[in-house]
Amino acid sequence: MIDEDQYKEALQVIELYEQQQRQRLVKARTCICCRTAIVSPSGTLPKVDEQEKGMWEGGAVASVAPGYGSRHDGERFYISLCDECIEKASEEGLAARISHD
Ligand SMILES: [Zn+2]
Repeated sequence: MIDEDQYKEALQVIELYEQQQRQRLVKARTCICCRTAIVSPSGTLPKVDEQEKGMWEGGAVASVAPGYGSRHDGERFYISLCDECIEKASEEGLAARISHD
């Protein structure tokens, strides 16, 4: 039987492990477009498997999960784009803006 104190201790261990994994695996990334700008985590580090939801200084991190028809079907990647490359791609029609100002 697990009592409440043991349950709370286990939750603390899980939280410590989660924070440890974030520190180890959520890192600054190089923009895949210009290959020079760095997009860095800002504020609270996002969950390791939800990095696209985090705050990133100077750009964005996106999750790319190709589906059926891609040679990479079933794989998942994180990529980053710096703000300048997002703007340039948008101006050139290479990035489709979904949200409206
Ligand atoms: Zn860039």
